[in-house]
Amino acid sequence: MSTAGFNSQNGTGTGQTYANGPSQNPVALQQLPGVSYSMTHQPPYNPMQAKAPSPPGPGLYPSGPYQPVPPVSSYQPGPPLSSYPTPPGQPLLTRPPLGGPPSHTPPQSASPSPGPRLPPAQATPPPPVSSSSYYSSPQQPQPMAPAWQYNTAPPPSGPPTSMNTPPRGPVANHVNPAASSTAPPPSSAAYSSAPQAHVSHSATQPLGPRMPPTSVHGYTQPGAAPPPMNPIAPHTYQPNRAPYGPPPTGPPPTMKPTPPPTGPPMANATPPPPKADGTVAGNGPQAPNSYNHVDNKMAGLPQPGPPGRHLGHYPSLPPGYQNTSTPHNATSPMHPAMQAATQPYTQAPQPYQQPPVGPGPAQLSPSLAAMSLQSSTPEALRVVNLLQDRNLLPPSPIPAPTPCLPQDLQKINCNPEVFRSTLTSIPQTQSLLNKAKMPLGLLLHPFKDLSQLPVVTSSTIVRCRSCRTYINPFVSFLDQRRWKCNLCYRVNDVPEEFMYNPVSRSYGEPHKRPEVQNATIEFIAPSEYMLRPPQPAVYLFVLDVSHNAVETGYLNVFCQSLLDNINSLPGDSRTKVGFITFDSTIHFYNLQEGLSQPQMLIVSDIEDIFLPTPDSLLVNLNECKELVQDLLKSLPTLFEKTMETQSALGSALQAAFKLLSPTGGRMSVFQTQLPNLGVGALQSREDPNQRANAKDIQHLSPATDFYKKLALDCSGQQVAVDLFLLSAQYCDLASLGCISRYSAGSIYYYPSYHHQHNPSQVECFQKDLKRYLTRKIGFEAVMRIRCTKGMSIHTFHGNFFVRSTDLLSLPNVNPDAGFAVQMSIEENLDDMQVVSFQAALLYTSSKGERRIRVHTLCLPVVNSLSDIFAGADVQAISGLLACMAVDRSVTASLSDARDAMTNAAIDSLTSYRQSVLTIQQPGLLAPACLRLFPLFILALLKQKSFRTGTSTRLDDRVFAMCQLKYQPLIYAMLMIHPALYRVDDLTDEGALNINERTIPQPRLLQLSVEKLCREGAFLMDAGTVMYLWIGRNCHPNFLTQVLGVPNYAAVPDNLYMLPELDTAESQRTRAFIGWLRDQRPFFPSLHVIREESQRKASFMQNMIEDRTESALSYYEFLLHLQQQISK
Ligand SMILES: [Zn+2]
Repeated sequence: MSTAGFNSQNGTGTGQTYANGPSQNPVALQQLPGVSYSMTHQPPYNPMQAKAPSPPGPGLYPSGPYQPVPPVSSYQPGPPLSSYPTPPGQPLLTRPPLGGPPSHTPPQSASPSPGPRLPPAQATPPPPVSSSSYYSSPQQPQPMAPAWQYNTAPPPSGPPTSMNTPPRGPVANHVNPAASSTAPPPSSAAYSSAPQAHVSHSATQPLGPRMPPTSVHGYTQPGAAPPPMNPIAPHTYQPNRAPYGPPPTGPPPTMKPTPPPTGPPMANATPPPPKADGTVAGNGPQAPNSYNHVDNKMAGLPQPGPPGRHLGHYPSLPPGYQNTSTPHNATSPMHPAMQAATQPYTQAPQPYQQPPVGPGPAQLSPSLAAMSLQSSTPEALRVVNLLQDRNLLPPSPIPAPTPCLPQDLQKINCNPEVFRSTLTSIPQTQSLLNKAKMPLGLLLHPFKDLSQLPVVTSSTIVRCRSCRTYINPFVSFLDQRRWKCNLCYRVNDVPEEFMYNPVSRSYGEPHKRPEVQNATIEFIAPSEYMLRPPQPAVYLFVLDVSHNAVETGYLNVFCQSLLDNINSLPGDSRTKVGFITFDSTIHFYNLQEGLSQPQMLIVSDIEDIFLPTPDSLLVNLNECKELVQDLLKSLPTLFEKTMETQSALGSALQAAFKLLSPTGGRMSVFQTQLPNLGVGALQSREDPNQRANAKDIQHLSPATDFYKKLALDCSGQQVAVDLFLLSAQYCDLASLGCISRYSAGSIYYYPSYHHQHNPSQVECFQKDLKRYLTRKIGFEAVMRIRCTKGMSIHTFHGNFFVRSTDLLSLPNVNPDAGFAVQMSIEENLDDMQVVSFQAALLYTSSKGERRIRVHTLCLPVVNSLSDIFAGADVQAISGLLACMAVDRSVTASLSDARDAMTNAAIDSLTSYRQSVLTIQQPGLLAPACLRLFPLFILALLKQKSFRTGTSTRLDDRVFAMCQLKYQPLIYAMLMIHPALYRVDDLTDEGALNINERTIPQPRLLQLSVEKLCREGAFLMDAGTVMYLWIGRNCHPNFLTQVLGVPNYAAVPDNLYMLPELDTAESQRTRAFIGWLRDQRPFFPSLHVIREESQRKASFMQNMIEDRTESALSYYEFLLHLQQQISK
């Protein structure tokens, strides 16, 4: 062992060099003995630098205000050069003893009261409500911004000195020299169908501070000049073609007036197929520090205030812009955005498709005037007596209801899988909403993989000068030169270059531009949308290598999976990767180009973690790929014989945060046990004996705020943390999960993972990893949700950090993340016929482009309870209620949440009975559109998250709650109410034909044992898991032709995969299961179970309509509701 001179510094934040040494740091170098380490410019770690100021007033920390973590101004002497047991011979970095100032205080001690609780409502504390109701009282003042929000941007990550000499490694690659020298001229305005390779940012931007302290939105250059309004910029539209020529010059052609449409308004509130309805949240008051504010500066001086009140009627159009009967493009029968829902996802945006060239909805507003929302809505309001009509389940999955809009508007509306509202008809007033007793909110899947996504490159992105709404299909054109914002009603000028329509290559058709023809569109953002050069794709993997971890065998799978997919990681020539492993110490890997093999560097001073060689731990993937591959091949064997049982996860996370801070990026953490050493150490809080019979469920909230605080630090530095938890033991997911939740990460959980004992989970883990490593990713993202003036959003659900009232900070955004928001109506909407919602997601692509994806949803406003009921979306309502109930479980109690869900059903059906039904009749009555509401509520009460009286591991429950909060609605619904099919008699009748594969479509069955029969085989699709139940007398044909076994007794006990048999039955069954799996981003495992299988209990627990020892049957539940309603 040799030693090397070692200077390290933990800065005090003043820029003055503070040396923990100079101290002799014993370094043992296996490969390169005698190498000396110089740490003179290591950026100091100060956890508070990225933190929000102490918030005033009540915040998310009921136990007290946000407590600053003492800065690390000294380090705790680690154990003097202890020997690391395994693997022997590895270099060991330990700081020597030093009589210094007190040690870094573990952050959890910052909370004054024991057991800090983190209410999940992230944006604002839920409004006070009666003990078991979700609905706020009318005209309730909206709370101010939550106390723990950032109102200013996180300060730079280091002291001034570190700006001048930024960390060499990460930042050196931070700027793509080629990109900065090829920034497009500001006047260029090309429409491109494919992702552009250029990166437009100013090469003169300072690299040091990541965000100026005065800006919340971190992507604009303060003081930058407004983009030139080039008079006649050569707009070109190029779906895989060279740009078209410049637009015609000369006077714009005159528009010929055409008669408005005369067709009847669409009156049916729930017509079957056309999917389009959406949801978005609205904007509250614009925060002065929002990126709108910055954008306003960019766009020039804001003109004096918005036009006060809205102008009354939905704006009408001059004759030149009124409806024409121009036929729509015959080749595009379905709007691209709508097609997306029905297509399997793809990784990359598809070429821009020419939108229909017919009249956009913006020209159709006159038809709204003729629209009568009072017209009868036969099907949605058909009265159903739930006690009599037992077979309510439709034979196939329920489509989203269609908003009651004129066809032209609806046809172009946002895809409901992307954007959806609980009420597709918005009440005029909050008091009307309160009467309806249904929750109003939006469910979003904003970064969903789309097979068709129009992508636009333009130097001028047209936005409202007042509220910064992006121009969209629901604005109106007053004339050729002016458009009126559909959110704030301000009249805006049409920029000159917007006059040219690249689609038709003609001038004077702003209403036919793609921005006005597509409710979902993506812009390649010009440089005003950047504060710093777009970050590179950076991936850091943090791996548990304790004895427990090695026992599970996960490391093999991980390393192999990364080796297999290393060329598919999203990124470009700047992509960087790094690795940290940990047990009771932290191990770094020097992967610098030129080394003959990776170097392992062990830091045992976990109390005050530092980076041994900051420049060579995150390396350029392309340049160092061989070293990375070497490491991945050797890692599994490196720790084979370890006996180290301790886990210093908290320190490993701190190290990873330090490493990623200069650039931002993605941290993937793999953990297999309860962290029990150093900062963030946790203790078991679960008593297995109390799982089934506890009166209420304890410990749903975190035991420490260490993970949340670290997540907020990460968020401030554009770092997201994804957590993979693989453990048979209690891991306190309620605490650990905070690291992902507040940093916009994902959580994966594999209980009882073991490479030999649990092969089905190994398969899931492999499939999930492949998807995870290769799926699209957006970096340094923010999402803002706006809504029409008069409405406001107040509570967000999902994984993110709320930076200002309507701005979500998403260090990473992934295509599998869902979000929900709750809304209220602040002002009467009685002058409006429609309202709009717009979600704008600004992110950096893995290729280093700033992009903005914009979704706009339009919904009608109604003034009668029956119209509100007719537009109810029972799945969206149930999904939003589930999110609200998770919050309530944590802030109040599980029983309180359960009561509130039951009351939600009682309240809405009572309201319907009292206010909508004209003829009173006996029974439990519901409108047809809500006929499944009690069933879904009962399903929620029996769901893993909320069930009682059934033994449920605490981590399983908490994970189920996490899933309800961030899964997109369609997946969450399967977890709430699984789908049951009979599959032993599959036929081709009514089958789908996809890619020459025939996919049988068996009908949905009620979740009741009475639907099972011993002669059959039944598939239950519960979202993340599927069960294939085999009846005792199952037809021998199915056993032999599908399962490949001679008889029932021969069905293996642990079968998780169907054999690939060359029979029609096998092909049908596998095609159906494969088709179900293809429709979701995660991999549901399959368990084949016999009547006496151990897993039978899990299957039977999903039989929601049946009575169990601890829960009512569906019929009993209906009787309970009826009793409450008729009180
Ligand atoms: Zn506006």
